[in-house]
Parts: sequence; structure tokens; C-alpha cells
Amino acid sequence: MANNPLTRFVIVGGGTAGWMTGALFARFLDSRYSITLVESDAIGTVGVGEATIPMLRLVNRALGFEEEEFVKATQGSFKLGIEFDGWREEGHRYMHAFGGMGRGLAFLPFYQFWLRYAAEGGEKSIWDFSPGAKAAYAHKFAPLNAAPNGPSNNLAWAYHFDAGLYAQLLRKYAEARGVNRVEGKIEHVRLDPESGHISGVDLDNGIAIDGDIFIDCSGFRSLLLGEALNVPFDDWSNWLPCDRAIAVHCKATSPTLPYTRASARKAGWQWRIPLQHRTGNGHVYSSAHLSDDEAQAMLLANMDGKPTGEPRQLRFTTGMRRQVWHKNCVAIGLAAGFMEPLESTSIHLVQAAVDRFLKLLPGDRIAEADVAEFNRQTRFEWESIRDFLILHYHRNGRQEPFWQACAAMEIPAGLDHRIALFEESGRIFREHEELFTETGWMQVLLGQGVTPRAYHPVAGGLAPDKLDELIQLAERAADQVVGSMPTHDKYLARHCAAP
Ligand code: FAD
Repeated sequence: MANNPLTRFVIVGGGTAGWMTGALFARFLDSRYSITLVESDAIGTVGVGEATIPMLRLVNRALGFEEEEFVKATQGSFKLGIEFDGWREEGHRYMHAFGGMGRGLAFLPFYQFWLRYAAEGGEKSIWDFSPGAKAAYAHKFAPLNAAPNGPSNNLAWAYHFDAGLYAQLLRKYAEARGVNRVEGKIEHVRLDPESGHISGVDLDNGIAIDGDIFIDCSGFRSLLLGEALNVPFDDWSNWLPCDRAIAVHCKATSPTLPYTRASARKAGWQWRIPLQHRTGNGHVYSSAHLSDDEAQAMLLANMDGKPTGEPRQLRFTTGMRRQVWHKNCVAIGLAAGFMEPLESTSIHLVQAAVDRFLKLLPGDRIAEADVAEFNRQTRFEWESIRDFLILHYHRNGRQEPFWQACAAMEIPAGLDHRIALFEESGRIFREHEELFTETGWMQVLLGQGVTPRAYHPVAGGLAPDKLDELIQLAERAADQVVGSMPTHDKYLARHCAAP
């Protein structure tokens, strides 16, 4: 039994990761715990991270952030998915829409019936059955929930927001609930000579902070886990070779699209994230294939308007720390590792890490089995996201050297198997608690041009009139959802307009 739990928590870093951790700890840990957060205004935060996935709604719900108020406060907009423009080839586009599509029969998902429909000459694309994709392209949005106890309406949404404003909300919440913020630059990390655990951090202003558990949210530098504890970094750039980004804002344009756009470029891709007060743009690229000047020129030439600030360059290496929890230190956010923002997964990885840590919260000592479990779950989650990202790059039909190299690269065995399984027999399985659903994998597989040679034999046994009915029902259901929505701009103006 845990009698005297380890209660002195020190969070190092006040970016999205630090303040989200602080807010969730404040929400879920009782008054025995003391939470101190150290951050340095002089160092600042990474200042990007504006696109999210639907799981963020769980954090907001847990913290009691009411949706309309939250969107207003962060100058945000709604996001129904990500459009991949030019990834299969120039001029081709597809959507990874959130939510579901159609309704399956017996044990089979809807897409198996659609595969048969398409194989028999049906002309409607799978996205004709997705309320998310249809609403996105019609520039419509409303937070429509399915009737209680009724079937799902297949709609799911996330947000685009100003990361700085979101961090402010989290900070306000956390400080109001007792998180103690200390300003200053950490100059020295003290280690216990016997256990090798972190015992404290010393700041440049003379303040010394001791603690039982240290949460490293110090960003790319990974001040505690990487630098002080020397946990090695597993480099994945052989699979995900982009290593730089340039980010810049321009004025908002109308209509405010309810989706993120990711446009393939010569040696990387460009994001477009619409907020109420501005549009975020960025170019993620491989420095081995493109110079910084070329990358910047390409970004500026492909925006909706003139930049409203100086372009900022960010450098990164894709990969993760070999252990994300080591001794009495857990890294969360960029300090744990980085995968490029193609599927907007980083902030999700922060919330997932906090959730996992709380479930494995130490009692009066740190149990090695808990640490191993945390690291096992984290690695599984990161590697399945990594493989999903690699799929976008690997199955491309573009001609530039960067893309040809991505198409030719050897990919992780698990991903290779998944692609083969879909290609040969149209089957997809979501493994354990991996982040992306069958519907997500299916959209990207189809979108990148992986076409199954077969569909499930049970779908083949359905009477033709029943198949017709299933298909029509699914299309009508999607149309009904979209038909009852106002435009995204109208919804924002009515409910979430920033003052
Ligand atoms: P940071 O924001 O870097 O914060 C680090 C903190 O540590 C700061 O407060 C700093 O002051 C403090 N610190 C560091 N050293 C010291 C020290 N010595 N003493 C005291 N304090 C210190 N994520 C998404 O989910 N969606 C996106 O669309 C998205 N886009 C991205 C685009 C790019 C190009 C990049 C690079 C990242 C993107 N991300 C995105 C990731 C997202 O920005 C981060 O996951 C998120 O902001 C969390 O960052 P962080 O808090 O870990 O680090």
C-alpha cells in the first residue's frame, strides 16, 4: 500500500506541454501534491502548434473549458480533417476526415461494402459518405451530436487555435488551482549521487527547487531527460527526412476553411491553418534536398497574402527518447521527441502522456514495472503514429528526387505488412489502442493510391438491392448531417467571434 506518496512535482517548461501538464495535474491531483512549474521568459516557447485532432476535446472537457468560449478565447476555428493536396501526384487531393463513414453490417465495416460497390463500377468516392469531408468541402460546420442512445452521426471535429492564447488559458487554470510558477533559467540540474535521480534544479536567479518527480517539458533541448540523465535519442529521420520548417502568418481570408491543408512541395510540404484573426502557414522540408532560401521563397509564393511578420525557422530531428520515463523524470512534449505536424499529433501526445502518467502515478516509490509499462505504451503509440506518417511519404507518385527517395526507402516491417494486407485483400486492423482508426488508415491508404485487389467475401454475398440500399442510406445520412449545418463562418460569427 502506498502510504506517503511522492508529492513534490516539478514541471520544467511553460510551453503547451508544461501548462497542459500543470493544468491536468491541478485538476486531478489532490491537495497533498505540490506542483511547481519553472519557465524562462528569456528562452520562450516554440510558438507553433495550432492544429489539433478531436481528442483535444477530452482535455477541454476535463478542464471544464466550454467550447464556444474556448474557440473565442483562442481566436480558433473548427477542423473537420486534413486535406492532402498533391501527395499522390500534382493536382490530386484527398481528405483525411475525422469521424466515420456509413454504417457496417454484421461484423463488417462500411468500407468493405463500398469496396465491392466501387469494384462493380460505382462512381461515388468513399468521401461521399463522410459527413466530415462533405461539410469541410462545403465550408460548413456545427457541433452536431448524435441523438442520445441513437446511432453515431459519424461527425467528429477538432480545432485550429492560437497556441499562445491556448497556453494562457491553461496557465490561468493551473495557477488558479495552486500551480506555483517560478520564473528563471535553469542553470544546473542536481543529481543524487547514489540513485542518479534528479534531486533539484538551480536557477540563474539563485532559486533552488527540490522535488520528488520531475516532468521535463523543456522543449527540443530535453534539459533533464536528454542532457542531465543522458537518455539517448532514437533518430527516425531515415524514414521521415524533413528536418526544418519555416513558419509565418498572413491575414485571414474568407471563407474560413474548416480544415487544415497540407500541400506537397518539391522536398516537403506546406501547411495552411485558418484561424479567425490570421492564417498560419509553414513549410516543412528536407534540408538535404532544398536550401533555406528556396524553402522560404516557395512558402511566401504560395500563401493567401503577404506575411504579417518575420518568417521563423525551426530545426528538428524526427525521433524519440529511448525511454521517456527514466528514474524520477518523465519527458512530455518536445522534450520526449518529435514527429512532424503532418497529422497534428504532438499536442495529442502531450495529453496522452499526462493521462498515462496519472494512471501509473507512483505511490511512495517509483516501481520499475510502472516505468517499463509507461515506456512500452509510449513507444507503441509513437511508433504507430510514425508508421502512419511514413505511409503518406512512401506511397507517392511524384517525380522529384526527394519523393522518389521516399518511395524507394525501406519502411518498417509493420507498415509494410499493413500496406500489403490492404492491397491484397482490403483489410485494415486497428491495433490495440493506437491513435488512428481503421477509417483514418483507409482514407490515407486510398488517398495515396493503394487500391485493394479484393473485398471481404461476406460483402460479396450481399444481395445487389441490399447493397444499393446500404450505399444510398449512407449517402443520405451524410447529406442530412451536412444539410443541417450553417456555413463555418456563420457558425463562428454567431457563437465564437473573438471580441
Ligand atoms: P516549448 O514550447 O519549446 O516549451 C519549452 C519550455 O521550456 C519553455 O517554456 C522554455 O522557457 C522552457 N525552458 C527551456 N529551457 C529552460 C531552462 N533552461 N530554464 C527554464 N525554462 C526552460 N503540434 C500540434 O499538435 N499541432 C501542430 O500543428 C503543430 N505544428 C508544429 C509545427 C512545427 C514546425 C513544430 C516544430 C512543432 C509543431 N507542433 C504541433 C508541436 C507543438 O508545437 C509542441 O508539441 C507544443 O508546442 C509543445 O511544445 P513544448 O511545450 O514541449 O516545448
